[in-house]
Amino acid sequence: MPSPEFSGPGLSGFPREELVSLLAPLPPYKAREIFAWIARGAESFDTMTNLGKNEREELSRRFSLYGTRCRARLDDPDGTVKLQITLHDGALIETVLLRDREGRGTACLSTQAGCPMGCVFCKTGALGFTRNLEAGEIVEQFLHLRRLNLGGPSHIVIMGMGEPLLNLGELRRALAVIMDKGGLGVSGRRITLSTSGLSREIRDLADSGPPLPLALSLTSAREELRGALMPAAEKLSNLKEALLYYQKKTRLRLTLEAALFRGLNTGAEEARAFRRFAQGLNVVVNLIPWNPVEGLLFRGLALREPSAAETGAFARLLEGEGLRVTRRFRRGRGVGGACGQLGSPSGTP
Ligand code: SF4
Repeated sequence: MPSPEFSGPGLSGFPREELVSLLAPLPPYKAREIFAWIARGAESFDTMTNLGKNEREELSRRFSLYGTRCRARLDDPDGTVKLQITLHDGALIETVLLRDREGRGTACLSTQAGCPMGCVFCKTGALGFTRNLEAGEIVEQFLHLRRLNLGGPSHIVIMGMGEPLLNLGELRRALAVIMDKGGLGVSGRRITLSTSGLSREIRDLADSGPPLPLALSLTSAREELRGALMPAAEKLSNLKEALLYYQKKTRLRLTLEAALFRGLNTGAEEARAFRRFAQGLNVVVNLIPWNPVEGLLFRGLALREPSAAETGAFARLLEGEGLRVTRRFRRGRGVGGACGQLGSPSGTP
C-alpha cells in the first residue's frame, strides 16, 4: 500500500456507511467488506477475493484504494521513524512513528500540508500553508506507519504538521475510519489531539465529538509572550473558557504543552502564570525542551534550547505552584522528526 491503484484520492478516507452509499449498487455487505480490506492494507481490488471478477474490474475502473505514496523513510537511532509522503497533487507531508522503551508505537499524524498558524519556533509554521489534508490522507499516514511492521501503532497523537482544528471536518471523517471497530479500531482513549488553541472549534468538539483527550500548546501563559511566539494565538481568557467547557462536558484529561526556550519562558513569573491559567482545570503540564530548527529567529535572535538544569528548575517551580509536571523524552531529532521539526524535505532539521 499504496500500489498500482495510485491515481487520485482514494477510498481509504470514507467512513463505513459513506462507503456503502458511494459504492451502491454494490450490496452494502460487500462495501463493508471493502472497508475492512482497506483497514487491513489490501494492495488492490484484485486481492479482495470475496468480490466477483466483474465487480473487481468495475471497481478498479471507477476508484482508487489509496491516494498517497511513501517517498522516503528516515530512521533515527533512537527508534523513531519519519516517513515523507507524497499526496496525489504532489504536495509533501511527513508523519512519524515514535517508539517508547517498552516498544509501544505512537503515530504522530499530520492534518495539513504546511500550517497557517505561523508559530515562530516551528519548522512547519515557517513553511506556510499549502492545503488541508483529505480524510484519506490522514488515514493513510497510519496505514503507512503500520506497514513498517515495527509494532503498532497502538496510540495516535494528532500533532504533526498543521493545526488539526482548522481541518476538523476531514479530521472527523478520518477518525471515524480509524476508530471504527470494523476497521482499524483504535480507541478514542488512545488518541490525543494537540492544538494551538481555537476556542470555537474546542467547543464544537465538546458538543459534537469525538471526545478525545486534548493537549493545548500553551508554551507561555503570559499573553504578550504567547502572542509573540504564536502570532495567531487567541486571547488566553477565551481559550480558558473553552477548555473549562470542554472538560466539563467530556471529563477528559487535558495536557498543557510547554515548548521551552532558554531564558524565555522558564522563570518564576511564567510558573505563576501557568498556575493561574490552570486554575479550575484538571491538567498535567508537559515540558518539551525546544528541538532546534536552524534559522528560526525570535525578536531578531536565534531561539535556543534550554539546558537540562534549566528545564529541571522550571519543573520544580511549576511543582511548587501545585502543578503536576511531566517531561517529554526526546525522540526523532536525528531525522528532523521531533516536535516542531516537521516539514524538511531533506529530513534534516
Ligand atoms: S506549532 Fe503547530 S500550530 Fe504552530 S505553526 Fe507549528 S504546526 Fe502550526
